[in-house]
Amino acid sequence: MSKHLIFLGAPGVGKGTQAQRLAQFLRLPHVSTGDMLRASVQSGSDIGRRAAAVMDSGALVSDQIIMDIVAERLFHEDAAKGVIFDGFPRTVNQARALDTLMQDSGSVISAVLHIDLDDEVIVERLSGRRVCSQCGAIYHERYHPPVTSGVCDVCHAALVQREDDQPEVIRRRLAVYESETAPLVAYYHDRPAYRLIDGDGGADAVFARIVEAVRE
Ligand code: AMP
Repeated sequence: MSKHLIFLGAPGVGKGTQAQRLAQFLRLPHVSTGDMLRASVQSGSDIGRRAAAVMDSGALVSDQIIMDIVAERLFHEDAAKGVIFDGFPRTVNQARALDTLMQDSGSVISAVLHIDLDDEVIVERLSGRRVCSQCGAIYHERYHPPVTSGVCDVCHAALVQREDDQPEVIRRRLAVYESETAPLVAYYHDRPAYRLIDGDGGADAVFARIVEAVRE
């Protein structure tokens, strides 16, 4: 039976970083709907063309598009034991659709990891974030700089600032989070799989809390 893990939390709480680490630790694929959408935008596919403007504005891509790419991704052989979702589900509709997908395939959500962090810290983290244009590795100008400024430690490609990490778009994304995604906390809160994680402190400290939470 496949066991899938999901992360909840506002943009900038560290979901991406922690999901990547947890995926390595548990040897499960890291499935980021944001990364998949950015890849579609780059490839110029039909989904990419439809998603690009929405993403740049900080709004959410339609539930239909998201469920199509998620369902397709779960068919891949490497997803047989489960995946670490990152940035999904983002709406109560997506969460319901995921529950249906789980029931239909005899799978479960084995952990709902809710990372909590103050808004001010979030804005600071997002505005300093830089990502590798090639492999998606995540850095921060102050808290996690690469060895050579502007260059990825892993694959040596150029680091870029995401279009939606500009200050006004960050504010929009936080507002979208409050209205569309925060209700997911109530949706999952009473399940045995739900875990609240303190997102403050360095990435190592937060990761240690997550490892503890998935062991429980
Ligand atoms: P992320 O990399 O997770 O911050 O996602 C970047 C952008 O992709 C978001 O601001 C949305 O426009 C879009 N996106 C990613 N995941 C989802 C999702 N599950 N539902 C709707 N839109 C999404």
